Amino acid sequence: MITRQYHDRVFALHDALGIPASYRDTTPLALYEEPEELVQTELDFYGREQRLTPSAALAWKAMCSKAALAGIELVMISAFRGIDYQAQLIKRKLERGQNIEDILCVNAAPGYSEHHTGRAIDIASLDCPKLEEEFECTAAFAWLQANAAQFGFSMSFGRDNPCGIIYEPWHWCYTA
Ligand SMILES: [Zn+2]
Repeated sequence: MITRQYHDRVFALHDALGIPASYRDTTPLALYEEPEELVQTELDFYGREQRLTPSAALAWKAMCSKAALAGIELVMISAFRGIDYQAQLIKRKLERGQNIEDILCVNAAPGYSEHHTGRAIDIASLDCPKLEEEFECTAAFAWLQANAAQFGFSMSFGRDNPCGIIYEPWHWCYTA
């Protein structure tokens, strides 16, 4: 359940970043809660620690094992991100001179990223640039399209999605 305190935390971050109140009224994205329990996964591509909910972590592990049998290596780029981390990401882009409207086409506002749930994973393949549309041309992507649903994962932001988020063939969420 999303508490009043959580709302207050989210919208204090929005105020600090200059995200207008109209965002929360008009975004088709949902407000996501951070999970109570997270477990460590393997280190990501960059050697950083990552966390998922226990059930998403199990499903991810099972999916990676099955993919490996087909000669496919699924590489984790990013999993759980809390609302404070999301705010930092946006703050760094603002400091580099990008405007908030442009940033919000690529990054959800704090509170509205599926990565807050601990069930979303950005996936890469070693033969392709990370977090680029070309991921859709990889064998890893073809394998995910054919098999991810069996493990409870689906791609959240297809081409021309109604969320106003760019096409993200690398972003998959465990929803089972
Ligand atoms: Zn993502």
